[in-house]
Amino acid sequence: MAQHDTQVLILGAGIGGLTLALSLHQAGIACRLYEAVPELKPLGVGVNLLPHAVRELDELGLLGALDAVAVRTQESVFFTEHGQLIFREPAGTAAGYDWPQFSIHRGDLQTVLLAAVRERLGEDAVVCGRRCTGVTQDETGVVARFVDPNGEPAGEARGAVAVGCDGVHSALRRQFYPDEGAPRYSGVNMWRGTTWWEPILSGASMIRAGWLTVGKMVIYPIRDVRDAQGRQLINWVAEIEDETPAIRDWSRPGRLEDFLPAFADWHFDWLDVPALIRASEDVLEYPMVDQDPLPRWTHGRITLLGDAAHPMVPRGSNGAGQAILDARCLAGRLKRQGVGEDALAAYDAERVPATGNVVLTNRRNPPDAILREVFERSGGQRFIDIESVVPRAELQAISDNYKRVAGYDPAQLRARPSFV
Ligand SMILES: Cc1cc2nc3c(=O)[nH]c(=O)nc-3n(C[C@H](O)[C@H](O)[C@H](O)COP(=O)(O)OP(=O)(O)OC[C@H]3O[C@@H](n4cnc5c(N)ncnc54)[C@H](O)[C@@H]3O)c2cc1C
Repeated sequence: MAQHDTQVLILGAGIGGLTLALSLHQAGIACRLYEAVPELKPLGVGVNLLPHAVRELDELGLLGALDAVAVRTQESVFFTEHGQLIFREPAGTAAGYDWPQFSIHRGDLQTVLLAAVRERLGEDAVVCGRRCTGVTQDETGVVARFVDPNGEPAGEARGAVAVGCDGVHSALRRQFYPDEGAPRYSGVNMWRGTTWWEPILSGASMIRAGWLTVGKMVIYPIRDVRDAQGRQLINWVAEIEDETPAIRDWSRPGRLEDFLPAFADWHFDWLDVPALIRASEDVLEYPMVDQDPLPRWTHGRITLLGDAAHPMVPRGSNGAGQAILDARCLAGRLKRQGVGEDALAAYDAERVPATGNVVLTNRRNPPDAILREVFERSGGQRFIDIESVVPRAELQAISDNYKRVAGYDPAQLRARPSFV
């Protein structure tokens, strides 16, 4: 197995895989990406990149390219299902961070990363139409095997190490944990879409409103352009408790009638929510699922990264962010310790506990726990003064605790050395 095609085999060219490729290139380590789909298309809707993730992309020289497409989020705002303001705090550079928070279309993020990979590593760095079915290893290296989009054998690739960046249905994770049960359903389904709409609040606000029992919304703009009528592309997510989980497919269409009734009377002076939802071109549905943190991702010369390693419920804007941090940490370890088992073990020791903590905190106390506390303590009733329902200091503590867990507490972030 000594003859390698490249040093690092990256299996999956999503957000994590592409960031890993750029980081390895920066570290002077050869790699190649193998992606299941025949062509990478800008799929999905909005994601948020918090300052800890933006710092990493800045260190890759991508700040300008992201700034050209994304919205620099200015504030995070929480409302009740009656449209009453609960809590507001600045975000990104407006909050004193050295890096902005970006609200961005997932497709735009992937496009920026992919363009940089092709420019820096070459057009043939990403091999599409290669679904990895498994990886074998011996003391000298790894061999990944592939099928094409028709399921026909499509050859193999050799490397010193392999990284499974193959998302929520990871073949590599299944290889090491074949008996893992079904994903853990949180009891909530979500529907997502985008709508061209006039700017809401500051025009750069991340809004969370309501609560899961009665219906919760997350709303923010994701492109830094306005159309001829001055409208922005607004991303919205509707989340409601539901006994039956939706199918775990990021591209599955959803139906308005399954969730719109919960928001029928959300006509606020700052936004007409049902009108925003109705004006959406497409609706996607997805279950809020995650998986219990794994004891380890690294098995000799093979490891996992991003959603393959730590799928989490999307309640803290950290799915893409933690994949980016994994990629940077792994590239740094491979650079300092050499491309082999020791670096993969060190990466595992650092990132397994850190991300496990995020997965578990996303279940119980992500930032939207602010909404839960107000809903439960007010009994879902209107209030006169939020301070008498939940003191502002308590709401701030929920937000600040999550920053520490996820790694974007301002002081911690500034003090942390670069990964690579
Ligand atoms: C089509 C799509 C749409 C999405 N939309 C959203 C969204 O709207 N909002 C949101 O918050 N998150 C979305 N996500 C998930 C989000 O991108 C991830 O949670 C996060 O960015 C972590 O990235 P990742 O690289 O670990 O996984 P992903 O970005 O999911 O990338 C995984 C990649 O691996 C490829 N792959 C899968 N199996 C194999 C295999 N066996 N061999 C080779 N390649 C394989 C996939 O095609 C994909 O390109 C979406 C993911 C996908 C794939």
